[in-house]
Amino acid sequence: METPLSGLALFEKIETEKASGKVLVAEIAPAVRVAIGELFGKPPGQNMERELRGMLHSLGFDHVIETPLGADICTYYEALRLKRELEKGEGKFPMYNSCCIGWRMYARAKHPELKDSINILASPQMALGAVAQEYLAQKKGVPHDKSVIVGIMPCTLKKNETTEVMKNGQKYVDYVVTTVELAQWAKMRGKELEKGPARPEFLPGSSAAGMRFGVSGGMSNSVLAALAKLCGTPLVQVDLKEDGAYRSVEYEVMGKRLKIAIVQGFVNFEKLYSEIKAGKEVHLVEVMMCPFGCVGGPGQPPANMDTIRMRRNGLADYAATMRNHTAFESPGIDKLRKDFLDALPMEKIEEMIFLNRY
Ligand code: SF4
Repeated sequence: METPLSGLALFEKIETEKASGKVLVAEIAPAVRVAIGELFGKPPGQNMERELRGMLHSLGFDHVIETPLGADICTYYEALRLKRELEKGEGKFPMYNSCCIGWRMYARAKHPELKDSINILASPQMALGAVAQEYLAQKKGVPHDKSVIVGIMPCTLKKNETTEVMKNGQKYVDYVVTTVELAQWAKMRGKELEKGPARPEFLPGSSAAGMRFGVSGGMSNSVLAALAKLCGTPLVQVDLKEDGAYRSVEYEVMGKRLKIAIVQGFVNFEKLYSEIKAGKEVHLVEVMMCPFGCVGGPGQPPANMDTIRMRRNGLADYAATMRNHTAFESPGIDKLRKDFLDALPMEKIEEMIFLNRY
């Protein structure tokens, strides 16, 4: 199996791709924007989204897009499916999330019996990478072999997603640069965090719910908010600033009480799993392996819990300022659907947003 690149070899490889005339697309995960500033003398939690765009363009990227839009894409189709299953009284519960690569790798190694209970949705990074490549091919005339998707991620483990391929054999994402690596790369090339475009230009941004994926509870929040929107019930907000590493949330939808468990780290997962095996009723389980979710990821600058809490609060506060709350109001989804997603057969969409293996 190929080993994902890191450090100087990775930076030079991406620069070579650019020099060969390929179109470089960077997608920025939500958690990166509230941590990268720490490596440039800024306080933790300060949103450096615009500066990140500026720095990535100065490193040679043609387009900079938002991984939270990938979260919206996944949530949009997942909420439609979940609603159908709840209406029919179907569905295999509990259902476990698939957006955290650390959790997926842990489950694959330690709990193969959960194979059919873990969602088959690709991660937001993968789904957005696949959709962006297809968008470039169909709408901008850039063939798949002429575009390069680079994830700017808070997570070293996310590099493993560059080895995964869709059913058609194409990669979802070509390279992953972590938060720390991006700062190293920029400093090596004499680049700074400098203000770039106020908004993503190539594809519009996400909903607030997509942005919250960078924090533990954010995925549950996104699915609940989308279901509420679909069913016309009050908007649901999971409290993202709660410190508990093991939480339960209940939500009334379509006459059913939906029970959700949100855990951080494998120790808390094992505690919850023992309870589920002993009969605890849960419909959805969100496991994020890092403290407070991706804001505390292994590709972020080294930090103590106070620093990670500041990042979490910074991201939650930023999301609270966003106007479009759910995946069903996401400006990026709106554009992608109008431009091309709605015209694609469902099998093609599933190819891009589903994992090809457990
Ligand atoms: S929670 Fe941690 S292991 Fe999971 S995707 Fe985020 S950074 Fe990676």
